Amino acid sequence: MVSRTTDDYERLALAGCCAVCEPAFWAGFDRSSPAGFYDYFRQLTEHEPARAAKFGLKHFCWLCINPKEAEDVGFAKEVIALIPQFIQQPNVLGIGEIGLNKNSRNEMEVLEMHVDLAARFDQLVLVHTPHLEDKLKGTRLILDVLKNHPRIRPERVIIDHVEEHTVGMVLDAGFWAGMTLYPETKCTPARAVDMLENFGRERLWLNSACDWGVSDPLAVPKAAREMKRRGHAADFVDGVVFGNPKKFLSQSPNFKLE
Ligand SMILES: [Zn+2]
Repeated sequence: MVSRTTDDYERLALAGCCAVCEPAFWAGFDRSSPAGFYDYFRQLTEHEPARAAKFGLKHFCWLCINPKEAEDVGFAKEVIALIPQFIQQPNVLGIGEIGLNKNSRNEMEVLEMHVDLAARFDQLVLVHTPHLEDKLKGTRLILDVLKNHPRIRPERVIIDHVEEHTVGMVLDAGFWAGMTLYPETKCTPARAVDMLENFGRERLWLNSACDWGVSDPLAVPKAAREMKRRGHAADFVDGVVFGNPKKFLSQSPNFKLE
């Protein structure tokens, strides 16, 4: 939401959304110092919840240095050292979106540091998987890191931006899977509903890409409409768009909708 206008909060509220869960991400430019992240974490934990509350929306967030800015391991270490002082803020759900962007060795090292941090503070984990030709390999690398960590439980991890060729391996390993909706490129609402029809709704949910590119905060309500158009029952649709995220996120004591 740091890349979005206040009008988007209003449209989300009018579309029937009750909460926004915002991953720590790129600011539209690379930050030049860890202090830039300190202010960003304040924005995520103080300013955005207040902005969302004006429209009756709950705002939750995830904290990390995103994979797009995680190539410099020393820099990432300094940013990760800032996170514990924000973890106790009441809207923090866990560590994310961590993961890989270009599948580099440095990104792997930063991923492992984040996974350790999540284990140490018993946090939920949100994972970004790389796009296009890097996705399959990146997803395999990420799953190996998570499966080999002695204190990470798959039911407390969501692997995001799954597509047709990665969703099966994520669900088979016991993780949750997120389908990220984009208006035109990558996963559209229609493709997401195809995947739900093929894989069922267990541990699978939807989220809207909301960033600096062309993206649509209302993609989840639009996917719900697509499901209804195809004849899916109201309780199936409700389970996918509301029940599943609520079930996963309720594993964090901070996730309260009242
Ligand atoms: Zn992502």
